[in-house]
Amino acid sequence: MKITLRGTRGSIPVPGAESYIYGGNTTCIEVVAQSGERVIIDAGSGIRPLGNQMVNQEGPSHCHIFLTHTHWDHIQGLPFFVPLFIPGFTIDLFGPVDPVYNNSLRHVLSRQMEYCYFPVLESELKAKIRYTDLQDGVSYQIGSLTVQPILTNHPVVNFGYLITEGERRFFFTGDHEPPQNLYQRGEEGYEEYQRLIDERLALLDGPMQGVDLVVADSMFTREEYFSKRMGWGHSYYDWWIERVERLNIELIMLTHHDPERTDRALDAIFSELQESYPHLIGRFAIATEGMVFEL
Ligand SMILES: [Zn+2]
Ligand SMILES: [Zn+2]
Repeated sequence: MKITLRGTRGSIPVPGAESYIYGGNTTCIEVVAQSGERVIIDAGSGIRPLGNQMVNQEGPSHCHIFLTHTHWDHIQGLPFFVPLFIPGFTIDLFGPVDPVYNNSLRHVLSRQMEYCYFPVLESELKAKIRYTDLQDGVSYQIGSLTVQPILTNHPVVNFGYLITEGERRFFFTGDHEPPQNLYQRGEEGYEEYQRLIDERLALLDGPMQGVDLVVADSMFTREEYFSKRMGWGHSYYDWWIERVERLNIELIMLTHHDPERTDRALDAIFSELQESYPHLIGRFAIATEGMVFEL
């Protein structure tokens, strides 16, 4: 499979000279199967140029978009994805349903295209669009790719995706925060809560064992996370890098960059991480828009 990072920014697009290197577009990853099918994970602003490319170049007129969740930065490019407007294109959209509101994926996505937000209604789109509400752990076969949704920890239901093709495996986390124990060590309830956390983490760690490539939400530094960002729904760099060895992950790309983070700031963070984990140099890096991986 060929994986292209089309958007690596978290929360909101950040165009400009200070995001020139690592990129300003929000989350979007393109995966092209050896059999030719195209899977797109998330529809942040990075999906817009991909859509233009799909329209302007020869290639399949059918694609499969898997959404990790429907927070803005993961769907805000969808109304600008040109294939949606073109007869002859078929778009299969997959994503989770939030049990709190119990609204279908189609309902949630069509609301962002109501007239008060966007000049074209979802019902006016010309492509053939099909919606699938995903269940945790239920896999889909897309050509030679097997796509398996796996629940992560976020304020809304978020699916990470494990994509397998033969022996090669790629995992994208979407948004994820390390689950934290609400009790202090020694307090009543600590052990029970920790057991639930460990069970939940095992369900995430299992599919990640020995994976060739993981692209992981790493929005914060450890200091930022523990001083003021706990509960915001995102991870910190060290949490993932420590898993490289433990889970025998070949390579982790750290993504979902904080919109306030300049290229220079990301360079500085990367240098510090290399100093902290010299034995893992070469097995983690900062995700950069436009990067391509062949697995
Ligand atoms: Zn996000
Ligand atoms: Zn989110």
